[in-house]
Amino acid sequence: MPPNDLSALLLLAVAGSIALLGALWLYCDRRDRLYFDQTRRKTTFSCLKCSHVYTGVGSEPAPCPRCGRTNPRLRF
Ligand SMILES: [Zn+2]
Repeated sequence: MPPNDLSALLLLAVAGSIALLGALWLYCDRRDRLYFDQTRRKTTFSCLKCSHVYTGVGSEPAPCPRCGRTNPRLRF
């Protein structure tokens, strides 16, 4: 039965394409989310010595880029 084989092949090709696009979409979405989380998650610090406000990665105390004093993160 050639028409049924052709229909099954066409259905398989369409389903495979949809599955491939879905997997590619999930991969790109996950990669972009990880990238934006890394660039967005910054901690704000305020220097107690020179009042300079700066950002850093992580919640550990970070040294001021202006005077070098280590400051705790800014809490609101
Ligand atoms: Zn400072």
